[in-house]
Amino acid sequence: ATALAALLATTSACSETRKDDNTGGGDSGPALVGIAMPTRSLERWNNDGAHLEDLLKKAGYKTSLQYADNKVDQQITQLQNMINDKAKILVIASIDGTALAPVLQQAADKKVKVIAYDRLINQSPNVDYYATFDNYKVGQLQGQFIVSKLGLDGGKGPFNLEPFAGSSDDNNAKFFFAGAWDVLKQYVDSGKLVIPSGKKLASNDDWKTVSINGWKTDAAQAEMDNRLNSFYTGGKKVDVVLSPNDSLALGIAQSLDSHGYKPGADWPLLTGQDADLANTKNILAGKQSMTVWKDTRTLGDQVAKMVDSISKGSTVETNDTKTYNNGVKVVPSYLLPPVVVTKDDVKSKLVDSGFFKASDLGL
Ligand code: BGC
Repeated sequence: ATALAALLATTSACSETRKDDNTGGGDSGPALVGIAMPTRSLERWNNDGAHLEDLLKKAGYKTSLQYADNKVDQQITQLQNMINDKAKILVIASIDGTALAPVLQQAADKKVKVIAYDRLINQSPNVDYYATFDNYKVGQLQGQFIVSKLGLDGGKGPFNLEPFAGSSDDNNAKFFFAGAWDVLKQYVDSGKLVIPSGKKLASNDDWKTVSINGWKTDAAQAEMDNRLNSFYTGGKKVDVVLSPNDSLALGIAQSLDSHGYKPGADWPLLTGQDADLANTKNILAGKQSMTVWKDTRTLGDQVAKMVDSISKGSTVETNDTKTYNNGVKVVPSYLLPPVVVTKDDVKSKLVDSGFFKASDLGL
C-alpha cells in the first residue's frame, strides 16, 4: 500500500470533485481491477500497463492486465472475461471509441465501475470517469511549434506542409488535429502554408481525409511515399510535416530518408507525440523536430488514485467536467498537462526525470 499511500498523500486540492457510490460486489479479499490496453505494438501502452499494474498491486489490489492486438473483438472478449471474473473496476484504453457500449452495459448491470484511460469511450452512459492528457493541447503545442520554428508570425513563407491525422476510430485523434489546425489554418488560408498534395482541410471536421488508421507506422510511410512521389517532382521540397504522434512520425521519417532528405540540410520540421525511444533517438539525430511528451507514469498515478477512491467510496478527484461529452453524458475527467520536448531538452526532461536512462539514448 505504500506507493499509493505516498501518492494519495501528495493529492493536491482539486477544483471539481464528485462523490461516488461504492463499487458493489461484496466478495471478500482484495478487489480485482481489470486493465484493458489496446496493443503491445506501441511502446507507450507497454509502459502504461506495467506502471499501473505495479502501482495497484503494491496498493494491495488484484489485477488482470490484457492487451488486445488492436482488435476490437478481442478487447470486448477480454472485458467480458474480467466481468465474469468479478472485477470491481475496469480501466480501459479503448481501441474503437464507439464499440464498447454493450459490454459496458454488462459491466454496469454488475455494478462494475469504468474508468476510460487516455481515450474516451463514446455512446455509453456507463463511463464513470476519464483520465487523460489534455488532447487538444497536444495538437496546439504541435501547431505552435510549427508557427514559431517557421517564423510564420513574422510573415515568413510560403512553406510546403503535409498534414497527417491519427486513427479515425480513436476519439483522441480529432482533438489532436483540432488543436493543431486551430493554430495552423489561418496560415493555410493566407497562403503562407501550402499543401502540395492537395489535401482539403477546409475545417477541423475534414481531419479524416488525412487519417492513418490503426496509427500504423508502415501506413504512414506508404502515404508519405505516395505524396512525395506524386507531388514533389522537379526539385520541390516538403518544409514541414504535421504528424500527430510518434508512430506516424517514424514512418514519415523513413520515407524522408528513402527520398534523400538529409538532417541538418533539407530535412523538414516533423512533429510527434509520446517520446517513444526510437523517436527520441531520431530527435537527437535531427530526424524529428519535437515530440509532445506525456509522462505516462503520471497518468498511471492519477488512475491508481481514482481506483482507490472508487473502491473506498471516497471522493474521486477530477479537474474537468465540461470538455468530454461522449454523446450520452459529459464524463468527469482528470486532464494532465503535455510537455514539448526538443533536442535541447531531451536530457533535462526525459533523462533527468528517469523516463529514459542516458544509456538508452547513447548519451
Ligand atoms: C494516444 C497517443 C498514441 C496513439 C496511438 C492515442 O490515443 O493518446 O498517445 O500515440 O493513441 O496509440
